[in-house]
Amino acid sequence: MSASPKTIQEAILYFADYENYRRFMIELRWPDGKVRCPQCGSDKVTYLANAKLYKCYGDHPKPKFSLKVGTIFEDSPISLDKWFAALWLIVNCKNGISSYEIGRDLGISQKSAWHLAHRLRFALHQGSFEKFSGHVEVDETFIGGKARNMHVEKRARRITSTGTKDKVPVMGILERGGKVRTAVIPNRRKKAIQGEVRKHVEAGSALYSDALLSYDGLAGEFAHQVVDHAASYVDGQVHTNGLENYWSLLKRTISGTYVRVEPYHLFRYLDEQAYRFNNRKEMNEFDRFKLAASQIVGKRLTWNEVSGTGLDLSARLPN
Ligand SMILES: [Zn+2]
Repeated sequence: MSASPKTIQEAILYFADYENYRRFMIELRWPDGKVRCPQCGSDKVTYLANAKLYKCYGDHPKPKFSLKVGTIFEDSPISLDKWFAALWLIVNCKNGISSYEIGRDLGISQKSAWHLAHRLRFALHQGSFEKFSGHVEVDETFIGGKARNMHVEKRARRITSTGTKDKVPVMGILERGGKVRTAVIPNRRKKAIQGEVRKHVEAGSALYSDALLSYDGLAGEFAHQVVDHAASYVDGQVHTNGLENYWSLLKRTISGTYVRVEPYHLFRYLDEQAYRFNNRKEMNEFDRFKLAASQIVGKRLTWNEVSGTGLDLSARLPN
């Protein structure tokens, strides 16, 4: 087998070879190496090399299947090598990549690239029930509308707790030295904020937040300390600098690469950024790509689901 690709150019060449692609898909979907029929689950299947299909000996119609069946790629007219190239770009471009760039790089339309990228972002969503512990920073921000100077926004958010119409409140939770989770929240009131904290943070953890009143009342369950933004110095451990750095990276990506994100789709961009951030250490480009690909194979998402009910596709698509 050829060595694992290290760059996007090598990845394109690697997956252009069907045998590399086939081995890769089998390793992801069936780690024991036994290809199973998506209809009946039987591993009594034969590989038809010329047709690049498998044939099941079970007693059911349509016994032939490709390695795409049962994945989000199944009903896609786009070939797998293009899907993989797009995934490689999305997980490895530090500041994200727009559907215009993906379209140009892969030789497909911007609209196709947009749908493809959204399916991939869906697959990057890493659900986890494991709670954060240790030293945990929590913070909220507004995303959308015009890109603004951080300091101006900071000042503004102390005056008002509700966002403007086109800005969406987003909550972030970061375990120091570990991972980040972000979620769109309905508002910045106590119920929404504290609900997220309790859902994601182990009781007894050291919790750091700003002085927003919605955090009041957490001290009984957490070692909660409030950051004094008015102070010109950082008081030892008591800061939310990790999350503030994360917000600035996220906002740079959204305003620089995607320009404008519809609120309905925002969570997908949040997931994409969190995936890159959470897998930034001790992973090369291929590892990051492979982990993402392994998350994809079990998920299905149709064109309608990704478009959103009632979303007017004739309107200008976000990037
Ligand atoms: Zn079967």
